[in-house]
Amino acid sequence: MGFGALYVHVPFCARKCLYCDFASEAKRADDPCMDAFVEKRLDELKRLATLGLLESCKTAYIGGGTPTFLGARRLAALITGIRSACPGVGELSCEANPDSLGDDVIAAIAEAGATRLSIGVQSLDDAELEELGRIHSAAQARERVKAAVDSGLDVSVDLMCAIPRQTANSWRRTLDEVVKLGVGHVSVYPLSIEEDTPFGRRYGGDCPSFNEEDIQAERMEGAERVLTAAGLSRYEVASYAMPGKQCAHNIAYWTGVPYVGLGRGAASMVEGDAYDALRALFAWLPEREPDAARMRFSTLDREVEFLTAREAWAEDLMLGMRLTRGIEASRMAEAPVVRDELLERGLIARQGNRLVPTHDGWLLGNELFGALWALAN
Ligand code: SF4
Repeated sequence: MGFGALYVHVPFCARKCLYCDFASEAKRADDPCMDAFVEKRLDELKRLATLGLLESCKTAYIGGGTPTFLGARRLAALITGIRSACPGVGELSCEANPDSLGDDVIAAIAEAGATRLSIGVQSLDDAELEELGRIHSAAQARERVKAAVDSGLDVSVDLMCAIPRQTANSWRRTLDEVVKLGVGHVSVYPLSIEEDTPFGRRYGGDCPSFNEEDIQAERMEGAERVLTAAGLSRYEVASYAMPGKQCAHNIAYWTGVPYVGLGRGAASMVEGDAYDALRALFAWLPEREPDAARMRFSTLDREVEFLTAREAWAEDLMLGMRLTRGIEASRMAEAPVVRDELLERGLIARQGNRLVPTHDGWLLGNELFGALWALAN
């Protein structure tokens, strides 16, 4: 009983980016709510550990928001708390933004036990960064990524494509520079324009030309060319890694490992008795439905989704197809019609005893993932 992965959501940022609909709020760096936030998480970690729910936890991830906005002291306290509550954790990642990733923060989190930094760079072009409403410059991002790499921590960089003012050439330059900085992991996402954001209000309705589907596909393909040529393998639809540098925490999400999320906006995926035990911590959780095999909930909306065993299976197939290595073929043995149809359409392929997504499968992701999720019914 317990969780294989722990997520802590830090809901603070220095300023909201123009496209962002994540659960985060702009705060002043000295706002007392940040100390209270860390205290509360440390208390929850202790209680989870006392319940025995963190004994099998192998990975932890501090995301946001902007965790580095907490500053060196608070962030180190949080990491120390995670280390003492989860003795089995190997990989411990922390998200960072270049503007709040000072040398003091890098040193403090490495000392407290973080192993990996995931830095939100998005672009290395000043005009593009300004359009996105990011508060860091390209020079600052280059310099901070280099400092992180030099510290010896594993470093990942997040990049965004199909954004305003981006051209095929500027995208290529950003990718080339990131490769040269020596990071071991890169995640690449097309911009998603969400309602209730300044971008949603500015561009809402009609899709702007910079964000059209074929531009997104072209940029994602451009990323694959540059990153794989530099020795990073694409192991997930949006993730590239040098050998041995894949993100174990994210792989846990895509392979059905139960995880618990702490902090406003954190999601959890829980199975069986662990859910009942967790009700001691989250008193608002309703009783488990009798036929539920898996529970999903977020601390933000406090709504629990109860999944039957069949729904959990369909979800695992869908998430597994995000990974280059796909799923074991036997997992689809009871859905031969859908499997054969996807094989025939070239959206998946056989590879030994596995079924793996094809290039077309990822390109037509909605169709592939939709067909697998439809198996839930
Ligand atoms: S830094 Fe990240 S979480 Fe914060 S506003 Fe920007 S995109 Fe959103």
